Amino acid sequence: MTRLRRDIILSICCVFLILLSGHPAFGWHDRTHLAVAKAAEYDGWYNAAGPDMAKLKFGAAEGTNHWCNNSSGLDVTPSVVLDQAAKYNKASDGEGHLYGAIIASLRAYMKDREGGKYAEYHMAYCAHYIGDLGMPLHNAPFDEFNEARHSAGDDIVELGVLNNIGLIQNNIYPIVIGGEADLAVEIARIANIGRRLALRLREENREMTQDEAYMQLSHSASLLRAVLGYARKAK
Ligand SMILES: [Zn+2]
Repeated sequence: MTRLRRDIILSICCVFLILLSGHPAFGWHDRTHLAVAKAAEYDGWYNAAGPDMAKLKFGAAEGTNHWCNNSSGLDVTPSVVLDQAAKYNKASDGEGHLYGAIIASLRAYMKDREGGKYAEYHMAYCAHYIGDLGMPLHNAPFDEFNEARHSAGDDIVELGVLNNIGLIQNNIYPIVIGGEADLAVEIARIANIGRRLALRLREENREMTQDEAYMQLSHSASLLRAVLGYARKAK
């Protein structure tokens, strides 16, 4: 095969994977993910952007863990969250299963830890998905508006966010998680906050403000802090 032919075939494959994965290459940028993890006092904060690197190699198998279209237009419920867990790493799910990915990555962490394995990378995935949960446009259909506004939203606080961890921490609130059922309730609650904000942005045809973004990051950091508190002590 000539190099030109191989390059053309590779390009076609890349376009196909991007189309299949939806929300191509979108998500809070790296420093924003790290800032959420730092605000939650996650000791492995430096790994929190890693799952976006995995999208580069695994395409939709990883990409569909980072968002959920919510194309039904209905509120997210705890049972929707729990049902999505079986779709973790499933490239063929065009709807996206961010909520189930949080549940499934935490299950993987617990399982590997109980088995005496190194489980921290599962927690890094979980921390990243909890960051994505706060991104309103990851909770809404990937329509023309979403595509046009996503990059600006991803970047809205990126430049100064690592110097503004306090702005995230100021609005962290207590969440108590005693088991997976509680976690599903909290994921659904934050998903619906993000979904409603996404609908409002579309209605008003505008980007997220910095204040709105910091508040969304505080929801994520609150949940991550609670998950860490639960997972680190759960046996
Ligand atoms: Zn992501």
